[in-house]
Amino acid sequence: MQEPEKPSYESTWKLLKLWDQILLLTVVSDAVIIAVFATLDFGLEPPVANLILYGVIAVCLAGLAMLVGLRAMTRCPRCGNAFQLKGTSSNPLSGRCVHCGLPRGAAAPMSAR
Ligand SMILES: [Zn+2]
Repeated sequence: MQEPEKPSYESTWKLLKLWDQILLLTVVSDAVIIAVFATLDFGLEPPVANLILYGVIAVCLAGLAMLVGLRAMTRCPRCGNAFQLKGTSSNPLSGRCVHCGLPRGAAAPMSAR
């Protein structure tokens, strides 16, 4: 079996930080969007306004789930496997690679530099 390609340590930590920022921005913007749709009815009748609100919530949650999934697939620089995804389970809060235990933000070994 061919070994998975390993990204550099620095680029992996930068990518994970970028994903964290994107996720935080998404959570905040989703909360604002849902709050706006929940408080304003835009002059629509309650059944229609509720339907639109549930649709907006579904789209926000689906987008958030997609981003969490994409973030979880970031590759570990040491073992080359998905940093936070093992089989069908994911641990997005893990500060370590779920495969080899490499701590997030660890310095590259001298031979990899
Ligand atoms: Zn690893």
